[in-house]
Amino acid sequence: MEMLCLKAPQWEKRDGLLHGFLGRRGGKSTGAYASLNLSFRVGDDPQAVKDNCCDVKKAVGAHDLRIVTMKQVHGERIIEVKDNRLKEAGAADGMITEEKGLFLGVLTADCVPILFSVRGREVAAVAHAGWRGSLAGIAAKMIRHLKDRYEVTPSLIEAALGPAIGPCCYEIGADVSGPLVQRWGSLAEKCLQSRAGRQFLDLGEFNRLLLQDAGLPPEQIFKIGPCTRCAAEDFFSYRRDKKETGRQLSFIGLP
Ligand SMILES: [Zn+2]
Repeated sequence: MEMLCLKAPQWEKRDGLLHGFLGRRGGKSTGAYASLNLSFRVGDDPQAVKDNCCDVKKAVGAHDLRIVTMKQVHGERIIEVKDNRLKEAGAADGMITEEKGLFLGVLTADCVPILFSVRGREVAAVAHAGWRGSLAGIAAKMIRHLKDRYEVTPSLIEAALGPAIGPCCYEIGADVSGPLVQRWGSLAEKCLQSRAGRQFLDLGEFNRLLLQDAGLPPEQIFKIGPCTRCAAEDFFSYRRDKKETGRQLSFIGLP
């Protein structure tokens, strides 16, 4: 089966930038990890994951580029990646690079993968935003980091939010909504929905609002792809697959 790789239409023709949001189709893993699982940390056969990595590079036309991922820990730490020989950058939920020849990768199965690029600058960044990272404001922290350490004006940043669990499926309890509203007030309230006495969170919208609040123009924040839990054929979903599942890769880099 052919790989699914969604793109932000606004970035398709941008020179010097390669990106994509991969789905679960077109890989070699089997069972719960069928088939394009790209995480070595979820119990899948390592050889299948290696093969999947190779196939992805071939498919996106970047044989000699390296994919750097993080040990994602649902926090707010951001790492600056300067060594393009790395495979894993360390424990973090955000990465920034100005290096050519590498892809920054985020692995998800319901959390929001966010890719960042800057107009007129060769900088790429990624963030992994589950509810804990979102509560910590990882997306906003990335904007501050780019501003403080790279002298990037927020109005020049573009962000693409990839396939994640939607408000149709992401039921939460007071243990999640409580801290979110306490820290972010009306910004969080706008993303909560009540249906039949149950509460749902629009995690993508929450991150979009965080980015807007941090100074990104709304037209420079793109939302890509469907709800991962609804789109069973195309995406892994931690909720739907009851924890034993693969991770899809979202990536961005300067070739
Ligand atoms: Zn859904």
